[in-house]
Amino acid sequence: MPDPVPHRAEIVVDVAAIRHNVRILKDLVSADGPVQLMTVVKADGYGHGMVESAAAAREAGADWLGVATIDEALALRAAGDRGPLLCWLSAPGDDFAGAVAAGVEVTAYTVAELDEVAAIGGARVQLKVDTGLSRGGAARADWEALFAAAAAHGAAGRVRVSGIWSHFAASDEPAHPANDAQEAAFREALRLAEDAGLDPEVTHLANSAAAILRPSSHFDLVRCGIASYGLDPAPGVSPGIGLRPAMTVRARLVMSKTIHAGDGVSYGHTWVADRDTTVGVVPAGYGEGIPRAAGNTASVWVEDSLRPIRGRVCMDQLVVDLHGELPPAGTEVVLFGPGDLGEPTAQDWAEAVGTISYEIVTRLGGRLVRRHVDSDAVGETADETEGTTR
Ligand SMILES: *Cc1c(COP(=O)(O)O)cnc(C)c1O
Repeated sequence: MPDPVPHRAEIVVDVAAIRHNVRILKDLVSADGPVQLMTVVKADGYGHGMVESAAAAREAGADWLGVATIDEALALRAAGDRGPLLCWLSAPGDDFAGAVAAGVEVTAYTVAELDEVAAIGGARVQLKVDTGLSRGGAARADWEALFAAAAAHGAAGRVRVSGIWSHFAASDEPAHPANDAQEAAFREALRLAEDAGLDPEVTHLANSAAAILRPSSHFDLVRCGIASYGLDPAPGVSPGIGLRPAMTVRARLVMSKTIHAGDGVSYGHTWVADRDTTVGVVPAGYGEGIPRAAGNTASVWVEDSLRPIRGRVCMDQLVVDLHGELPPAGTEVVLFGPGDLGEPTAQDWAEAVGTISYEIVTRLGGRLVRRHVDSDAVGETADETEGTTR
């Protein structure tokens, strides 16, 4: 008997898997000395639920949490988180004062942002330098000016410059020359900052892939997102470190039925049966964040077998090939999960549709109900919490 699926289509997140992954990452980076771990929970915890993921990470020893926006940071504070918390993507008009009042560390990319933060008084601010991603952060030509302004504000007691950091462009490709170049540039930035009189508490560069693959980039702290959720940041490159995917997406079969050779399936008849077969209707589509590109490429798991998606993914539903079987309505369909039973993984879906697992898990939402379970807890449902994704 498959587990009953309580919702028509749902995301189940095992917070025990997140705790397990956070512990593994912390042990990995602390092996050669004290390195702090930041768990990145932006974008609703990569689709896993920001607040629940954050709580699991803290419980497992995450020293820091990281998010993109001030709003995300304030939501964590509202949920009761009180630990070190950094955000790094502000836009004009953002509420720096609110962040500072909530004890959130903010990131300045420019002297103008730094001045704005300094005017609040009492801020802990980190400086981001662009070492080669050419995205956010101070360009090389502006490092000295940013450090000088930061030192002046710091000396006057207007801010505490608590950190200096940067971000890799290609850490999932360890042989890419950008990695050495960025690490060298970061070391140069730290020298210049020291020359300017700055004394940051933390310096950091590594994301998940660099945390796993590039110990020289660990500095004081690593920022791990995707690996915390059990997904491989560098598929085919990372050594197995025992991560456990936390997310399962499953649904109840709406119906199954026989179709005949020559019958076209779903909009546009992009798949036509070459023999008599059976198909099943799964109540999840691109309205739930299922990629439309999964049509005719990805598979799901029904009754212990892989079942390919036939034809186009629709807004609300998709059709799978049941290979002659007629499981009843209500039968469990696993779109992806940890892979333990043979079901597809988020990585399999990413490869099927030409993207990365990050996008597969983060884009899910819509009408999916998200439940959190704790597979380490005694008693099956005692620790379940439930909510909609939007
Ligand atoms: C998202 C993000 C991370 C986490 O990256 P992963 O590859 O998911 O570990 C780290 N640092 C910054 C600045 C980010 O934006």
